[in-house]
Order: sequence, then C-alpha cells, then structure tokens
Amino acid sequence: MALFDSKAKVIQGYEKSISDKNLSIKRYYDEIGRLYYGQYKDNNVDVTKDINNRCESVTKLYRDIEELKHKILFEKGLKLCPSCKQENNLEYAFCFKCGNKFDPESATRVIMFDEEPKAVPEEPAAEDAAETAEEDKAEEAPAEEEKKESTEE
Ligand SMILES: [Zn+2]
Repeated sequence: MALFDSKAKVIQGYEKSISDKNLSIKRYYDEIGRLYYGQYKDNNVDVTKDINNRCESVTKLYRDIEELKHKILFEKGLKLCPSCKQENNLEYAFCFKCGNKFDPESATRVIMFDEEPKAVPEEPAAEDAAETAEEDKAEEAPAEEEKKESTEE
C-alpha cells in the first residue's frame, strides 16, 4: 500500500519535527535557568532581554508543535474539537462528544493554531437581521444618506 506508506512517512516527519522542537524548548529552558542564575549571582547583570527573547522562542515553538499535531491528525483523517479537544473524524459536522459545530471547511484543510473558529462569518440569517437593524437606525438619522449622495457629484 504505497499510499499508506507515504502517509506514514509524512506523519513520521511531523513527529520528528515535534521531538526536535521539544529538544529546542528544553535547551531554551536550560539557558533561561542559567541566565537567571547569572543575574542572581551578580545583580549588575541584566538578563531580562535575553530571557524574554528565549521565552518568545519557546512560545513560538509550542505553537509550531500544536500546528504539527493538527497536521498529524489531519493525515490520520482526524480533527480536534476546538471546544473540548476531543478527536473527531474529519467528516463530522458536529463534535460527537460536546456537539460543537465544526467549521465546514475543517474537513478539507488543516486548522492553524492562529485561527479563531469564532471569526468565521455568521450564517446569512444573521446578516439579514443586521440589515433590518440598520434600516431602523436610518429612520432616526436620515442626514447620513443625504451626505453620501452629494459627495459623488
Ligand atoms: Zn467537542
């Protein structure tokens, strides 16, 4: 099964990358510890910047790892529920554990760590509601529409 083999290789690559990143995180933690100790020994040494730099790198590595874990799940035909973290089949429209509704696109792409599932545009019904709300407002303040028309000519 060539297809399965190539998939396994991809997953292996992701797993290798995760373990590399975990090693880097450990190294950064070591350095942070040493830097802090250096400051403890000599009050004139200011390591705040050095420590902050390393903390930022660690944060980035954790994000990368999270992303890689999503990719591995994707390769396995699974996705994580953003709400309860339960593994679900990629095809599921709703989380089988908590009932959370998935972004319909989640079955066709990997969700990146950055993306807020809530930022997905609302259903058309919500838009209609917003429009009628605006119309109500227009009645109260008709001055704005007149202004818009006059600027064109
Ligand atoms: Zn869930």
